[in-house]
Amino acid sequence: MQESNPEERILIVAPVGQDAATMAALLNSHGFLTQICNGPADCARRIAENAGVLLLTEEVLKLPQVSDLVETLKAQPAWSELPVIILTSGGESRLASLMDLIASAAGTLTLLERPMRGTTLWRSVEVALRSRRRQYQVRDLIAARSKLAAIVEFSDDAIISKDINGIITSWNHGAEHLFGYTAGEAVGKSVTMLIPEERLDEEPEILERIRRGERIVHYETVRRRKDGTSLEISLTVSPLRNERGEIIGASKIARDITERKRAEEALRLAQAELHEHAAKLEKAVAERTADLRATNEQLETFVYSIAHDLRAPLRSMGGYAQLLIEDHAPSLEQNAQQMLKRINASCEFMDRLLMDLLAYGRAARAEIELGPVETQRAWETALFQCATQIEQSKAEVQTLRPLPIVRAHEGTLGQILANLLSNALKFVAPGVRPRIRFGGEADDLLIRLWVEDNGIGIPADQKERIFRVFERLHGPRYAGTGIGLSIVRKGVERMGGHVGLESTPGKGSRFWIELPKAA
Ligand code: ADP
Repeated sequence: MQESNPEERILIVAPVGQDAATMAALLNSHGFLTQICNGPADCARRIAENAGVLLLTEEVLKLPQVSDLVETLKAQPAWSELPVIILTSGGESRLASLMDLIASAAGTLTLLERPMRGTTLWRSVEVALRSRRRQYQVRDLIAARSKLAAIVEFSDDAIISKDINGIITSWNHGAEHLFGYTAGEAVGKSVTMLIPEERLDEEPEILERIRRGERIVHYETVRRRKDGTSLEISLTVSPLRNERGEIIGASKIARDITERKRAEEALRLAQAELHEHAAKLEKAVAERTADLRATNEQLETFVYSIAHDLRAPLRSMGGYAQLLIEDHAPSLEQNAQQMLKRINASCEFMDRLLMDLLAYGRAARAEIELGPVETQRAWETALFQCATQIEQSKAEVQTLRPLPIVRAHEGTLGQILANLLSNALKFVAPGVRPRIRFGGEADDLLIRLWVEDNGIGIPADQKERIFRVFERLHGPRYAGTGIGLSIVRKGVERMGGHVGLESTPGKGSRFWIELPKAA
């Protein structure tokens, strides 16, 4: 016998002769699990462990311990009605009252009269076991239902059911907690007791949708607690159907979203504040930029007028120094002559400086009008301006044609290219013949013009610095005032472009400017 499944066991109690063994053998041969018990007390113990069918002979009823058996049968759980089969000796039994007792305690009592055919016995056992199996199904269903009921009951969410007219039919713990009404107070009332007046028209609408079989998911609304306070909730409402599939009501899960709504509102406010702050900041930056630009323009104007005004006295100082050298040289000591020459050279340098400053001032302030400009023409201006330098340095200048048309101011572009070309000719290592290439290329929006040299190059960390006024990297070996590239940048920016460079120290540089394409 398999001990593994007590639910299927046929317990046999037959104290006299070979009955028990014979019945067990017969039932085993038909595939039943059997267990022979040593009297009613042993049988009672085994029933407590569960059994499929109890099979006894009439003689058992005469034993004193039969009361144990009756008690055990009575003590079965509600779902359990253990089928009992008693083999009697026929006729009006003297033990009828005991049988009644067993019948009242057991579920079904079957009496089989001896002698009987083996088929009768195992068929009866089979029928009894089948009814027992249905009891097991009921038991499992009850267990599943009570589990589900427990889940519903103790869910944190409010789970409510209502009939098709909106009358509450069930109310869980979560509902009690959320709305403040006990199940006793809520069941039987209309759900409208939870709805604030101004939202009362929501309920007929929800019921209408439920009647159509619709499921309403995450319906966000406001409901009222027993104490009159409002709470924000998210509702999910599903139709409830009877066994025929007809809609008889709805189940409703309500979740408190007050906190979430509060957090959302706080987030919204924070975002609005942030936007306001960003807008203020942007305004402040724009104002400050405008202020800076105005100050810058004032400074440029100031520098321009100083440069302009300084030139006259400077020229007179230089002129007098020159006069002294020319007219009074014989009466002056060698030393004094040298000093006068130095004064004169300094005056010349200072004049160059002032002229450059004036050029910068013009680049910054002059009215310029933008239009299509042939790069070729601006480049020719640059070549013309640098002709002496080219000749003296025996430079090789290559122009890559065709050159594009750009949107620019021709004079400014010519000045810019002249400054770049002049630097390319100037900043070469001693004894090196300058080799310069000029070209241009276009993409969809911009034109890039570049001047490439084989000069001394510029370290990467100085690339920004050299575009500032008076910044020079290469000391007295190379003449200059440090303003040329400032003029380049100012001019390019005023034409709506950018300037930059690529360079390898010791090998050469490529300065580029980017300008908008001509329309
Ligand atoms: P300047 O030529 O009068 O010195 P710029 O403003 O034109 O002034 O140039 C600033 C500095 O940038 C130069 O003194 C030089 O050190 C560096 N520079 C400019 N162009 C080149 C170049 N093509 N190759 C190497 N260095 C350069």
